[in-house]
Amino acid sequence: MITRSTAVAANLEGPIHRIVFSPKGVLVHSHATDELSLFENESPVELHFEEYLGHEKGIHYNAGFSNADYSEDSRFRLVNLRGSYKSIPADLFRIAGYASEVISWRRNFQFCGACGTKTERVPHERAMKCTSCGLMAYPRISPAIIVAITKGDSILLAHNIHFPENQYSTLAGFIDPGESAEEAVDREIFEEVGIKVKNIRYVSSQPWPFPDSLMLGYTAEYDAGEIVPDGVEITDARWFTKEDLVNVTIPGKQAVARTLIETVFGPIDRD
Ligand SMILES: [Zn+2]
Repeated sequence: MITRSTAVAANLEGPIHRIVFSPKGVLVHSHATDELSLFENESPVELHFEEYLGHEKGIHYNAGFSNADYSEDSRFRLVNLRGSYKSIPADLFRIAGYASEVISWRRNFQFCGACGTKTERVPHERAMKCTSCGLMAYPRISPAIIVAITKGDSILLAHNIHFPENQYSTLAGFIDPGESAEEAVDREIFEEVGIKVKNIRYVSSQPWPFPDSLMLGYTAEYDAGEIVPDGVEITDARWFTKEDLVNVTIPGKQAVARTLIETVFGPIDRD
């Protein structure tokens, strides 16, 4: 686990590995064979800004952002973290996701949301401060709930309109202002598939950097009602036994949805 730091990097001893973001994706050397690999020491391109992430096993990690378009640059290929998360080792994905959230924050809070003045980086705190009115902008973390609903030996999985064809996952949704996580579980499930649940239990949480969610994982038991997909976000929802899962694509090992599915069914031997 990375030892975090919110200070701007300065006088670091030892190797530095950099992950470099651009508007169209993460830069990777075109000759790199792994899906994602970091740059050692110097950044290969000029950076618009950079953030120190922390260190792990004697290596420092930095995240940088370059505003240029590298889509036609033969030195690099561009990686979409969301599209390739299943192919990235867990340790590297964790650092890349952390970096992605920090870079999003720096990009999105360059100007004050209240008065429009340029902000500046606070030296010893991960915050951007307005140079006119003093408003502080911290990295945004958006809490969301995700739930494995069980009924006998089955679990409810749904197809979201944004998923690739035949992909099914547990239900999820953002927590509203003024709402507890458990209330959000109750509301989201009813809105998305029209059923009521009981015995809502917290399992574990996981950051999900697309772009800045913190997924709070729950299990719940079916209580009442018939499944009626909302037709807007959810186009299909069904009960699946463990055996039924071979017919559909499910979330990869890195996803908290997968953890929840395996909490119910035990380990599933596939990607
Ligand atoms: Zn301001």
